Amino acid sequence: MSAPAARVVRRVVVTGGAGFLGSHLCERLLAGGASVICMDNFLTGTPANVEHLIGRPRFRLVECDLTGYVHVPGDVDLVLHFASAASPTDYLRHPIATLKVGSLGTLHALGLAREKGARFVLASTSEVYGDPLEHPQRETYWGNVNPVGPRSVYDEAKRFSESLTTAYRESHGVDTAIVRIFNTYGPRMRPHDGRAIPTFVRQALMGEPITVTGDGAQTRSVCYVDDTVEGVLRLAGSGFAGPVNIGNPSELSMLELATMIRDLTGSSSPITFVDRPVDDPAVRRPDTSLAADRLGWRPLVDVDTGLRRTIAWFERALLEKSRPAS
Ligand code: NAD
Repeated sequence: MSAPAARVVRRVVVTGGAGFLGSHLCERLLAGGASVICMDNFLTGTPANVEHLIGRPRFRLVECDLTGYVHVPGDVDLVLHFASAASPTDYLRHPIATLKVGSLGTLHALGLAREKGARFVLASTSEVYGDPLEHPQRETYWGNVNPVGPRSVYDEAKRFSESLTTAYRESHGVDTAIVRIFNTYGPRMRPHDGRAIPTFVRQALMGEPITVTGDGAQTRSVCYVDDTVEGVLRLAGSGFAGPVNIGNPSELSMLELATMIRDLTGSSSPITFVDRPVDDPAVRRPDTSLAADRLGWRPLVDVDTGLRRTIAWFERALLEKSRPAS
């Protein structure tokens, strides 16, 4: 079946727009001339992430819980559904809220897209592959997820939201797309969100021990936020349904990542080893050939450059925080 033609995007709803990825999406969309309605309940995001956008004529921040009634007046061309806790620390602290935003939140976001005749993009995740038995992971792989493990509140919520998105496409003809995002990092991650890069950077900059889980041999493939945003927007602007992997295939062990961050910050923090979380995947690397073929996308920012930019941002943010209030 051929993909529907790309559409002109004028008015976009970004759910979870005050979060890490959502705020970068809002910025890029505004820069591209779109009007943006950013919807967020600030569970893990903050208005501070979009403070610099507030007051712009084409930007509106709406405090709203996606699991409840959602109403947006006027036309909408595109719904980018990014609302959901994403870091293990966050979703383990908010397990029911994570399941609710993945199920009810996705239902309401899809309902909005259906009502407005808008294209819909679901922010799914490499976590749908669980602890993968196929490496690297292609979109055709069905995954290896423990449905009752602690991580299941996130993994299964995303798997359900993929299924719901597919059902809305098949049954209601909504123009949907699914992007499976692999670990993304960059400015505006919270220093205490529990993900490896902000944790290592914070610890290195504060001169604290850098805590690597397990023996550090487990791998991740980390993608700089600008590359991820470009991939998401290319998918949004195409007629492709996906699912499509967006991530950087250059794979690093956690120990390599910790060492790299320690070297780039010039820190003398020791590297220490702590318990590995239950069901933590051993390996993670996207096969991105589908994104290259269908979207002409590939990541452009290498890990060294991306980490330098991220470290510079954290240095400024931590300095800002340590200043006495005037
Ligand atoms: P984040 O926690 O910074 O952002 C999520 C945002 O969703 C927050 O602003 C939060 O307040 C909001 N939110 C949560 N529940 C909500 C609700 N019920 N109603 C309205 N808003 C709600 O996380 P992020 O890293 O920016 O991730 C954004 C999306 O991308 C998530 O859906 C996540 O699953 C997906 N994703 C991210 C990554 C990554 O590496 N960052 C990887 C894979 C998938």
